[in-house]
Amino acid sequence: MKSSRTFIWVITCLSVLILLSGCGSKKEANSQKLHIVTTFYPMYEFTKNIVKDKAEVQLLIPSNVEPHDWEPSPKDVGSIQKSDLFIYNSPYFETWVPSIEKSVSNEKLLFVEASNDIDLIKRSESKKNQLDPHVWLSPVLAQQEVKTITEAVIKADPNNKAYYQKNSDEYLAKLANLDREYRTTLKKTKKKELITQHAAFGYLTNEYGIQQVPIAGLSPSQEPNPAKLAELKQFAQKHKVNIIFFEELASPKVAETLANEIGAKTEVLHTLEGLSKDEQKEGLNYISVMQKNLDMIKKALNA
Ligand SMILES: [Zn+2]
Repeated sequence: MKSSRTFIWVITCLSVLILLSGCGSKKEANSQKLHIVTTFYPMYEFTKNIVKDKAEVQLLIPSNVEPHDWEPSPKDVGSIQKSDLFIYNSPYFETWVPSIEKSVSNEKLLFVEASNDIDLIKRSESKKNQLDPHVWLSPVLAQQEVKTITEAVIKADPNNKAYYQKNSDEYLAKLANLDREYRTTLKKTKKKELITQHAAFGYLTNEYGIQQVPIAGLSPSQEPNPAKLAELKQFAQKHKVNIIFFEELASPKVAETLANEIGAKTEVLHTLEGLSKDEQKEGLNYISVMQKNLDMIKKALNA
């Protein structure tokens, strides 16, 4: 009697153990899915197109916030700390990254600087003669960033290498198409001078033989003084600029003032420093926004 009770007890324990270990291994399988934290919208989109549903991809900086001035909260640092891959553009854009990289204690976590293989250019517009981080706005350099992110994702999850490589190649082909559209469209335009709100389009304009004349510096918060505004007004009149660009996340005040003074119109040129929830719901993405930008640039340079 006693021994059969013990037997039942042992069987029950074993079943519970098997069930528990079953659950345990299931949990482990789930947690094998890569968890990737990305900083601002283009980093999110580039990564998402490579991993699709094989990884969790989080967008850290809220899409309605200008990322130049953004800093992470302790909760955000916690999210980075718990992730497998952390993908950002450049320490000249997400300037808070180097100090976080020093402070995290997760040895498995890989920090990926997407612009790592790109030579950044110094711009005179910046007071500090700072390196220009806006590489994602060039369809050519965007491809380099996608390649760098792809390598990092494969390093973190080599089992799915073929899947990531295939997705990456498909997305790179779309970016190469975008580059061709820009090159063909901007080859012959009446004008070559583009007045932008801040110096975000330097790599794009360099690539296609246009000149960017920014109202503010490398960050939208570096506003121009009256002398600089007078210079811009003169430049705009001399080159018959009749569209002044402002952007989606910064105040259009200065661009509007300048446009009023020279009798020009204002239009939006999207920096993709954020893509709002509404824009995402409308189905907009990096490529379609860049195509809209191309239409705007074409219009401005032929007006
Ligand atoms: Zn910017």
